[in-house]
Amino acid sequence: MQRAIETLTIECIKGDITEQPDIAVIVNAANKQLKGGGGVDGAIHRAAGPKLVEASRAQAPIEAGEAVITPAFDLPNDHVVHCAGPVYSKSQPVAAQLASCYRLAMQLAEEQNAESIAFPAISAGIYGYPLDEAAEIAVQTVADCAVRAQSIKRVRFVLFSDDALAAFQRALETH
Ligand code: ADP
Repeated sequence: MQRAIETLTIECIKGDITEQPDIAVIVNAANKQLKGGGGVDGAIHRAAGPKLVEASRAQAPIEAGEAVITPAFDLPNDHVVHCAGPVYSKSQPVAAQLASCYRLAMQLAEEQNAESIAFPAISAGIYGYPLDEAAEIAVQTVADCAVRAQSIKRVRFVLFSDDALAAFQRALETH
């Protein structure tokens, strides 16, 4: 499904973020060391080739909520934004850090004059964020960016499971 908010088209699809050749910038749910890992991080590093880890590690470490940008090397995209999502915690509110990942990724893509960006469900895998909450923060933050978006016209959430797709669709429908 997709929705238009201001000049942005925001869409949710089920798929693999490494297979989005029509998108300029893809976002990685990385870790603070930017040294590759499991989940979506592993998939992105495998598809981009070994130069990606050199380029990302050179900018490490980063804090939760921060993001850096590298070329995309062997991926069919122009750049990869690497975000360190927060580890979910009930006792410590980390929503602001998760929102910061989405906001900074949008900003870094704008600085490259990118027309499109694709996000996975940051922090909703190994880092344990409940899907509905993660989806709500993702959609709300991107929608908030719509008013000042200039180069970016399309934002795609690429979800790896039916559950994640359903959560993001629900969040997008209510916006
Ligand atoms: P985190 O450590 O930030 O939680 P994970 O990689 O464990 O990151 O998971 C984030 C989300 O990315 C999860 O919903 C997971 O199912 C999903 N995911 C895993 N591989 C891919 C992929 N190739 N493309 C898109 N999403 C993916």
